[in-house]
Amino acid sequence: MQVFKFGGASVKDAAAIKNLSLIVQNYQKEELLIVVSAMGKTTNALEKLTAAYINKTDEVHAVFTGIKTFHHQIMAELFAPSNPVFDEVENTFVEIDWLIEEEPHDDPHFIYDQIVSIGELVSSRIVTAYLNQTGVKSRWLDARGLIQTDNTYREGLVDWELTRKNISETVPQLLQNEVLVTQGFLGGTSENYTTTLGREGSDYTAAIFASCLNAPSVTIWKDVAGVFNADPKRFENVLKFEQLPYSEAVEMSYYGASIIHPKTIQPLQNAGIPLFVKPFLTPKESGTVINAEEFLVKVPVIIVKTNQVLVSVSSKDHAFITENHLSEIFKTLAGFHFKVNLMQNSALSFTFCVDFEAARFKQLQQKLKQDFKFRYNLEVELLTVRHYETPLLQELSAGKTILLEQLSRNTAQLVIKV
Ligand code: ASP
Ligand code: MG
Repeated sequence: MQVFKFGGASVKDAAAIKNLSLIVQNYQKEELLIVVSAMGKTTNALEKLTAAYINKTDEVHAVFTGIKTFHHQIMAELFAPSNPVFDEVENTFVEIDWLIEEEPHDDPHFIYDQIVSIGELVSSRIVTAYLNQTGVKSRWLDARGLIQTDNTYREGLVDWELTRKNISETVPQLLQNEVLVTQGFLGGTSENYTTTLGREGSDYTAAIFASCLNAPSVTIWKDVAGVFNADPKRFENVLKFEQLPYSEAVEMSYYGASIIHPKTIQPLQNAGIPLFVKPFLTPKESGTVINAEEFLVKVPVIIVKTNQVLVSVSSKDHAFITENHLSEIFKTLAGFHFKVNLMQNSALSFTFCVDFEAARFKQLQQKLKQDFKFRYNLEVELLTVRHYETPLLQELSAGKTILLEQLSRNTAQLVIKV
């Protein structure tokens, strides 16, 4: 059997869905489980809808209509008007209609998951219907009843034991007769509420299913030829890897390479399942395989994390920063769901770099300001170079203001003012 994951770009319009079905037709003789993301930029649009609803702005209906129209236009290109998929999709969108008629629930993260999940629920309906229309017998599978999470909305923590039981007890039989199409990025709580697994979490979904089904491999179909040593959209003379060790892929995603969701590798590595990253427009190409074969990556790997903020915290009375201070700072960061991308301490201050998100940053600032002096630099980038050489670092930072630099034997990190 195989597990395939198709991301937003690979289902972004009617042509993309036709292309998906051509790829699937080539593998039809095997048991196949397909994980799909929301179409194109739908998740961003649903996030916008969520914010408009919570803040009670009049954008709500216009944004929602835009999302529905986008999907309807694609469906009109793919299906005859009598196809039942129109009703299925309408019935799914109705969930949002009902929700936005009500007063917003207290927990914005809960609202987020109930609204944003609709993107994957709809895209998976459309893909299932199209595969059936092209002769690939397919069944829509609700991931929320299989992937059990806790109720940490927006970042559901997977209950592996229950999830493994759910998937292994039901999915293998279903796979014998049909291709299964399920949603990336979604889970369900024990009370049957929908959760999401974190932005770009569909890769993780594919890894969860593969692990629970002991799949021989996972393939992520992307709009790039494979995994590169630097983002081809940003750098020239980039190099595609034919193969990468799990360990290197984990480091790359940790430092912010947007190739794979950071949680994806661990379950695959534990089960020894190789991950293929392949181009959906030229599916015969080799792509990149990420597996257990350890070898030294010799070329430098460049990762740029944009939209960062560099924060420096010090005590108000010039006292040393102690372990007690640090533990308080970390507790606050964790409380607001900040991930520290780089940190450094000195006698009198603690400095760290995190992703900038205006609302959450304001909360962090207010909280830490109660006990500390709080200074920060906005509009900075975090440049990470693995397997670096000094001339390359000089070239990459030429003419730029470096606010902080950290070098270990293998990895260089620079915080740069943009
Ligand atoms: N649709 C979700 C997102 O855009 C999940 C995914 O694409 O992996 O974040
Ligand atoms: Mg995506």
